[in-house]
Amino acid sequence: MLKLKDVSKFYYNKGLISTGFTKINLELKMGEFVVITGESGSGKSTLLNVLSGLDSYEEGEMYINGEETSHYTEKDFEDYRRKYIANIFQSFNLINSYTVYQNVELVLLLNGYKRKEVKKKVLEMIDKVGLSKFKNTKVSKLSGGQKQRVAIARAMVKETPIIVADEPTGNLDAKASKDVIELLKKVAKDKLVIVVTHNIEQVEEYATRIIKMHDGRIVENKTIKEVPKVEHIQTSKYNKITIANKYRLGTRNTFNIITKFLLLFAVFLFISASLLSEYASFEQTEYEANKQGYNFYFRDLSDNRIIIKKENKSNFTKEDYEKISKIENIDYIVKDDLLLDNSFAIYNENEMYINGKMYDIKHYKGNLTRRKNTRKRK
Ligand code: ADP
Ligand code: MG
Repeated sequence: MLKLKDVSKFYYNKGLISTGFTKINLELKMGEFVVITGESGSGKSTLLNVLSGLDSYEEGEMYINGEETSHYTEKDFEDYRRKYIANIFQSFNLINSYTVYQNVELVLLLNGYKRKEVKKKVLEMIDKVGLSKFKNTKVSKLSGGQKQRVAIARAMVKETPIIVADEPTGNLDAKASKDVIELLKKVAKDKLVIVVTHNIEQVEEYATRIIKMHDGRIVENKTIKEVPKVEHIQTSKYNKITIANKYRLGTRNTFNIITKFLLLFAVFLFISASLLSEYASFEQTEYEANKQGYNFYFRDLSDNRIIIKKENKSNFTKEDYEKISKIENIDYIVKDDLLLDNSFAIYNENEMYINGKMYDIKHYKGNLTRRKNTRKRK
């Protein structure tokens, strides 16, 4: 399933090169329960990140399902993550203001499923992790062990062949840790599970392979149990997120405002503001602020604005602009304006999605008319 041949990972930082790991050789098969241990800084997280396509590697070859990946683009790795990988984190990374149900459902909505068609699947998965009683409880009210169960349900419902967990029991007491590992082993039995942990005793009885890392190298790679060969590998199915879901999540997120969400948006606004300042005059900002308050998605929400996109997504040409400018009552054209109408994901240790609402041009009915208070624009 996953094969590494002399793979190395370096970090470049202000002219300094540091090593994540060096010359890793590894072959992991479906059905394995792989445990990676080693002291802090030995390269475990870096290795997991490369295996899950979150991080690049600089040397060697990595094969996914027999396919060499050195030619992979960002987009290829994104597809790989969506089809193959589900993550479980030490800090759970759930949305605390969502219920258990909403947290598990979210991953499917983002994968383009309709709300109705996922209900059964979501409830079944919540049942499998033993949280049916809490399905409508906000995650913030749960214990650590319960939160990690939600995270397992969320990972499982994605139906990927590989589950990657970086110190999933790091924030749990001994009893909860044991339960979580046991549950993971039970529900993910035919998958490839890769778990990083300090606490080898907790996982020893479940592991089929134990890998020990030291100073960026594998110093021990022990097969504990042979696993039967899996012929067919089922990958996660996903579509483009539907407009209805975008809208729904957009509003849900707006009303369930979480600190992280706001923080990211502050950064986002700062960046977009800097980019836009070239043509956004103070006057205009003031006008919009007065009129709209803040809006995260469109910089200019004035009601005489129309957003035009080409159906085939190609760039606008000079001729296009000419044609548009000849339409009656067009005051001006803002080229390449910022329009956040796609969901995008920020992946780091914390997986985070933000969704913009999209208004399609077809929702704008009627003729173009001139507004009385036309504004100046630089
Ligand atoms: P572990 O998970 O085993 O504690 P990591 O994989 O996080 O270890 O780190 C392995 C090595 O890579 C460490 O020496 C660490 O300093 C280095 N490293 C990790 N992430 C970065 C980074 N973003 N930039 C520079 N060095 C890093
Ligand atoms: Mg780590």
